[in-house]
Amino acid sequence: MPERTCISCRAVRDKHNLARLSAVDGALKLDDKRRLPGRGAYICRDPGCIKAAYKRRECFGKALKRVVTLPEESELRGLILK
Ligand SMILES: [Zn+2]
Repeated sequence: MPERTCISCRAVRDKHNLARLSAVDGALKLDDKRRLPGRGAYICRDPGCIKAAYKRRECFGKALKRVVTLPEESELRGLILK
């Protein structure tokens, strides 16, 4: 099983249990269909994990190895947890 590490809590999980995030033109997007090219960042579908990630905002850019603009936390949370 391909495993990925959550950028927030560092838990290692099957990648299908994590939400994939990607940078599109410098903006962080939820890669719901897992079709966006390039490096992905993975995060648990968990409000606590998303909250913790926003407290350390640099973890997104670090994982994607680029500078990314983040959506509002509530917006991203809504997309991930829908
Ligand atoms: Zn997590």
